[in-house]
Amino acid sequence: MIRLKDLTKRYGKFTAVDGISLEVPRGELFGLLGPNGAGKTTTMRMIAGILRPTSGSVLVGGVDMLERPLEAKARIGFIPDRPFVYDKLTGGEFLRFAAALYGQDGPGIERRIDELLEIFDLSAWKHELTESYSHGMRQKLIICGALVHRPELIIVDEPMVGLDPKSARLLKDLFRQFVDRGGTILMSTHTLEVAEVMCDRIAIVFQGKIAANGTMTELRQQTESGDLSLEDMFLKLTGGHRAHQLDAVLER
Ligand code: ATP
Repeated sequence: MIRLKDLTKRYGKFTAVDGISLEVPRGELFGLLGPNGAGKTTTMRMIAGILRPTSGSVLVGGVDMLERPLEAKARIGFIPDRPFVYDKLTGGEFLRFAAALYGQDGPGIERRIDELLEIFDLSAWKHELTESYSHGMRQKLIICGALVHRPELIIVDEPMVGLDPKSARLLKDLFRQFVDRGGTILMSTHTLEVAEVMCDRIAIVFQGKIAANGTMTELRQQTESGDLSLEDMFLKLTGGHRAHQLDAVLER
């Protein structure tokens, strides 16, 4: 569903994403892990067609994002890490607007909007301006907006941040069923337990490159980590703090 070849993004002399090649097949929930600044968001924004790569290619369902962007984007629902919604639209208007961007409207979409708002406990807020929504409610509305046009691929940056336990569980169940029905998800997260439980495969990104890629079992083999936890593997690949650094900071 996703095929990246030598994907690279430079900002001036700084290389944020450094020649990433990756394939994510249909029906897979794929996780991107990596320390702050590793290049996860930059990679996801290039796959979603929001950011232009310096070089390399992105294919979504066999469609080249650079050559046929509208066709490629029609397959994608993108959920950014920061929930941006238009304050002066109501939740219902925002979802109608999101659907219209994909050329979809009419009674079918109205029903879909109601279903999505219902499952995310937002029905009572359908006619309220989003400026009155809490952070978590905005996040849920953004998720509804990414699902409204029935995408084949969901790209989601840090999905669980700001969600209450009930909504987080709903999202986990929804994502699992989405991939079980043939959809594909590319998800970044810092919550290693979430990645371990939810993802079929995981790539650990470090300094713009993929440091390891595979199932949990394959990652353990690649990193010769025996039965280490994902956290220990992650720190082995990306480096943790040292005890003397803590001592220095905490010394009175
Ligand atoms: P985090 O986990 O903190 O969200 P990330 O892995 O998503 O990090 P990115 O946001 O992809 O990291 O950033 C990768 C690198 O690219 C960082 O060093 C960041 O400072 C740099 N970067 C991102 N956007 C820009 C920009 N517009 N101009 C210059 N540098 C940028």
